[in-house]
Amino acid sequence: MILKELEDKTKQDLREYFQDRDYMVVTVPKDEPARVYVVKATRTVETARRIHDLSPGATVALGRAMVGALILTSLIKHATDQKVLIKIDGGGPIGTVVAEADGKGRVRGFVDNPKVPLHTKEVEGVRKVDLSKIVGSEGTLTVVKEIGMGTPYTSVVPLVSGEIAKDIAFYFAQSEQIPSAVGIGVLVDKDGSVRHAGGFLIQTFGGISPKVLDLLERRASQLPPVTAIMEEGKRPEDIAAMILEDLKPQLIGLKEVEYYCPCSEDVAKASLLLLSEEEIEEITNEGPAEVVCRFCGRVYRFDKKDL
Ligand SMILES: [Zn+2]
Repeated sequence: MILKELEDKTKQDLREYFQDRDYMVVTVPKDEPARVYVVKATRTVETARRIHDLSPGATVALGRAMVGALILTSLIKHATDQKVLIKIDGGGPIGTVVAEADGKGRVRGFVDNPKVPLHTKEVEGVRKVDLSKIVGSEGTLTVVKEIGMGTPYTSVVPLVSGEIAKDIAFYFAQSEQIPSAVGIGVLVDKDGSVRHAGGFLIQTFGGISPKVLDLLERRASQLPPVTAIMEEGKRPEDIAAMILEDLKPQLIGLKEVEYYCPCSEDVAKASLLLLSEEEIEEITNEGPAEVVCRFCGRVYRFDKKDL
C-alpha cells in the first residue's frame, strides 16, 4: 500500500494497520530543502533469513544491504516499478551481497555464503557485530538504477568501511552529489531471529539555511543506533520526528515494505535460452534442466520439449 491508498485512513487506523508491518516514511521540514526517510524492515529481513537460512552474521549483512536498497529508492520514483540494486563485493568471507528494492517498497536479496560466521568487536564496552570482517572492507559498492527506459544506470564506488551505511552515504555524496547521513541497524536475537531492522537517510539540498544544516548534522551524529531507538518501541514516523524536531515535519510519502521476488517461469526459461543449443541439448539429456532463483530459492524445471 502506498500513500494514495492510505490517505482515506485516519491516523489511528494507520497506526494500527502498521503495528506489525514494515514500512517507510518520507518526511520533510516545512520550510527547508531537506528530506528524511525512515524505514522499518524487521519482518522483511526475518523473511530473508528464513528463505536463505542465514547465519546471524549473514542476517546482519544482508539485512543492512536490504535496508540500504530501500533507502536508495529515494533515487527512483515513488510507487513505481523502477528498481535500485546494490551489490557489495568487499572481499570478505560472505562473498557478494546483493539487494534490490523497487519504488513500491518490495525488496529481495541474497549472499554468496549464507553460513558465514559472526565477527564481533567491542565498542565502548558494548559487543557489536564487526561487519567489515564479514563483508570485507576493500572492494566496491555497485549501484544499478533501473528507471524503465533503456539501459540501467550503473555506478561503482570504492567501499569506505564495509559497514554498509557509511558506504551508502559515500555513494550519495560521490555519485549523486547529495550530502547525506545514513544510519542502518539490524539486531539479531539470541535464537537467531531478527529483533529489529531499520534505517534512516537524511538529505539536504542547495539553499538550506546553515543553521538547519548544522542542526541536522548534529542530530544525525547524536542519534542512538536505530535498533536501540526501535527497542524503545519507536516507529519510523517517531524517528523522523526526532530528527526533524522543531522543523515542522510533514509526511509526504508512506509505503509498505515487504520481501517480494518477482521471478517467474518465463524469466527462468529466458535465462536458459541464453545458452547455446548444444549446451541445452547436453543438460536436458541428463534430465530436466533446473533454474534456481537466487533471490527466493524457487526451483523451475524444464525438459527438452519446454525449451
Ligand atoms: Zn525468485
